[in-house]
Amino acid sequence: MAEMPSPWVTALAQFDDAADRLHLDDALRQILRSCKRELTVHFPVRLDDGSTTVFRGHRVQHNVVLGPAKGGIRYHPAVDLDEVKALAMWMTWKCAVAKIPYGGAKGGVAVDPKKLSDRELENLTRRYATEIALLIGPQEDIPAPDMGTDAHVMAWIMDTYSMHRGYSVAGVVTGKPLSIGGTLGRLEATGRGLLYVAQEAAGQGLTPLAGASVAIQGFGNVGGVAARLLAAEGCRVVAMSDSSGGVYNERGLDAEALHRFRQEGGKLAQAPGGDHLSNEELLCLPVDILIPAAMEGQISAANASQVRAKIILEGANGPLTPEADSILAERGIVVIPDILANAGGVVVSYFEWVQDIQSFFWEEDEINERLRRVMVRAFAEVKSLADERHVTLREAATMRGVQRVAEATLVRGIYP
Ligand code: NAD
Repeated sequence: MAEMPSPWVTALAQFDDAADRLHLDDALRQILRSCKRELTVHFPVRLDDGSTTVFRGHRVQHNVVLGPAKGGIRYHPAVDLDEVKALAMWMTWKCAVAKIPYGGAKGGVAVDPKKLSDRELENLTRRYATEIALLIGPQEDIPAPDMGTDAHVMAWIMDTYSMHRGYSVAGVVTGKPLSIGGTLGRLEATGRGLLYVAQEAAGQGLTPLAGASVAIQGFGNVGGVAARLLAAEGCRVVAMSDSSGGVYNERGLDAEALHRFRQEGGKLAQAPGGDHLSNEELLCLPVDILIPAAMEGQISAANASQVRAKIILEGANGPLTPEADSILAERGIVVIPDILANAGGVVVSYFEWVQDIQSFFWEEDEINERLRRVMVRAFAEVKSLADERHVTLREAATMRGVQRVAEATLVRGIYP
């Protein structure tokens, strides 16, 4: 079986491909291939039993040419520097594809948050926030939730940063609770963005949404919301999974009921309403739309030839390896790439930051409508470039993102 490339190797391969197609010169390639700042921190946290454990965390800013660095914070045992660098680079291209004035960043701590008490999680978060405080700030670098973190974790980061400053700095993180400067619509934003992109794909004749069968890997913020919104649009969500495994029913699952089941602490491998299946089986179901919404590298050379979906809509970042991309393209399976499909989260994060800076808050329908306009435009630009250059949607999206950052780099020039 082919060895799985690291996410950083995948991100670089995608960049090199776009750089070749754009005929970027060597200097630009060197600049855009590198992460501007990479911070690794080791820090102690006192646990409830009185013992102390040292954790490892990272914050990486890939590029800040277009604006402050932007990107989530992940708490997961598999977090390492290569993964964070890849996620930061993808954020740079994603913000550029969406045309929002940010650079790309990411952070993470190697930890299983489910094994910590609330108090331990708070201690870990406040200490990590302090360790990376030399990089973050509303004009410098603005974290947000990612796997294993949520609005509560963002509130602790915002509070810690504000305590150090002596006044409240709402704009230092996005994805916060509403009561401290969060925005309406942020929780659903990534899933909603996926819906808007699926609607645009349907408009292009890719697959009509009404009655479309959908399988979703990962039932967190991205996958869980996408399931409910797509079901409300008339899709038949036939399979869903979390890290324990999944549940399958050809006639369709009740996404709302499964959401409640998960909120009460249930695992999808034991969920009612269908047959149980593994994550590997879910990825190979014959469905109209497959949404990987968990980890990187889930579809690789090892299983790409068994995928039977018509369209893959990437909710997760980097769920496909470049080898899988080639195999799927040859087989005529359309992939709507992460840096386009899941941009809804960072777009509404941008709206949250703008509202925080102006201390003026918008209505939810205004937020959703602005999000829709950004996603529709981004999809149209990527699709027309893909058609014009006869490339895949991922190749076109990466070209768009890289080209915008390259142009800004050239215009700004090299200091000194
Ligand atoms: P989350 O922590 O809310 O949920 C993750 C889900 O994936 C959980 O249901 C978990 O059980 C499941 N999972 C974890 N490991 C798995 C595995 N090996 N197999 C199957 N399921 C597994 O995380 P999230 O915020 O929904 O993020 C999911 C993905 O979407 C990540 O790749 C993240 O980078 C990406 N993403 C998130 C956002 C956002 O706004 N939260 C935005 C863009 C992209």
